[in-house]
Amino acid sequence: MDEHRSTLPFADVLIEDGRIARVGRGLRAPRGAQVIECRGRAVIPGLVQAHVHLCQVLFRNHADGLELLEWLSRRIWPFEAAHDARSLGLSARLGLAELLLGGTTAILDMATVRHTTAVLEAAVESGIRYTGGKCLMDVPGNPLAESKDAALRETEQLGLAWHGQENGRIRYALCPRFALSCTKALLTAVRDLSRRHGWLVHTHASENRTEVAFVREQTGVDNVAYFAQLGLQGPRLVLAHCVHLTAREMKQMARAGTHAVHCPGANLKLASGIAPVPRLLAAGVNVALGGDGAPCNNTLDAFHEMRLAATLHLPRFGHRAMPPAEVLAMATIRGARALGLESEIGSIEPGKRADIAVVDLSGPHCAPPGDDPHATLVYCARASDVTDVLVDGRAVVRNRKLLTLDAEKLARAAPAGLLRLLKSIDRGGAN
Ligand SMILES: [Zn+2]
Repeated sequence: MDEHRSTLPFADVLIEDGRIARVGRGLRAPRGAQVIECRGRAVIPGLVQAHVHLCQVLFRNHADGLELLEWLSRRIWPFEAAHDARSLGLSARLGLAELLLGGTTAILDMATVRHTTAVLEAAVESGIRYTGGKCLMDVPGNPLAESKDAALRETEQLGLAWHGQENGRIRYALCPRFALSCTKALLTAVRDLSRRHGWLVHTHASENRTEVAFVREQTGVDNVAYFAQLGLQGPRLVLAHCVHLTAREMKQMARAGTHAVHCPGANLKLASGIAPVPRLLAAGVNVALGGDGAPCNNTLDAFHEMRLAATLHLPRFGHRAMPPAEVLAMATIRGARALGLESEIGSIEPGKRADIAVVDLSGPHCAPPGDDPHATLVYCARASDVTDVLVDGRAVVRNRKLLTLDAEKLARAAPAGLLRLLKSIDRGGAN
């Protein structure tokens, strides 16, 4: 996924000290090197999902059949409020296991309001490249809201403690939930913190028509325009969804360098709509991909999102609107750009960090191979075709087995973890 989107058949990738040293045919493995045989497989940049919620994975299959605002108030917020550090750690590890086994090596996450450290610790343990932070909500009327000052104090402390940990693999992001759950004063302070520390701002915008109408009613302007008015725009701002945007907002985003994250699976399941991705790309907006939450998708499989992104827009924009190489770019180099890591990850090029996924394309659902491996990856491949995953040159998945977490044990622990959470909600308690 270099700038030419080039592919190199029968090549080798040499990794030294966590970085890609050389790419080419017939490279010799130095003495003592570990060799991963990838014959018949595609070696691709590790997939990047620029919008996920690890804290929600434990609610998968328990929030179906609802639209966004009801889904939040009736299910997600009570669930998130019931989390303690233990249930949150389980939720995060479950999601991290799914992500890594499916070839996702970098995420931009939004944690919940409390116990953020449990998510950050899980990210460290899993080996994933993590950017994310505590969710910020200071508009009262829900079980997660807290005071602006408490929210800001905690988020800054977390950022100062965690940003740059693990040789830069863990990075902090400021995560106001969305315009409707944040006061103007909170958003303004988030802008200032982002400027002071250089941290990303990760939020939701223009996902659902009712949300957009409320934002307009409360602020007098459209969602993206409102953020821009507050000085929240530019390359450090990542907006999930962007389903209902005006042409003016798209231009504004492109001009400022604000990133959009397309989450087609979640947008369909919550009946939110279809983001005008070909128009965003044509306007010059960087668009990344994300699975969003397990309870609104209900999968964190990047291949599923790629296939949706590649096909969903064609009836409206024509059969050439979403070329497979462009879609794979959204899940790799464009995702890296949204995370501010374009010079470090997102393509297999010498000098970059070795975040790599190996995909077995020999299964019956991929045969026979066509001329364009991007097309096979985007249209045919599945998360279960990923055999090996490296982050910073370290193997986290080998031969379809996750080395850093016990995936089977986590799946077995999930029902009891969820049950504890449901009991806590029944008691009316927030943890
Ligand atoms: Zn989300």
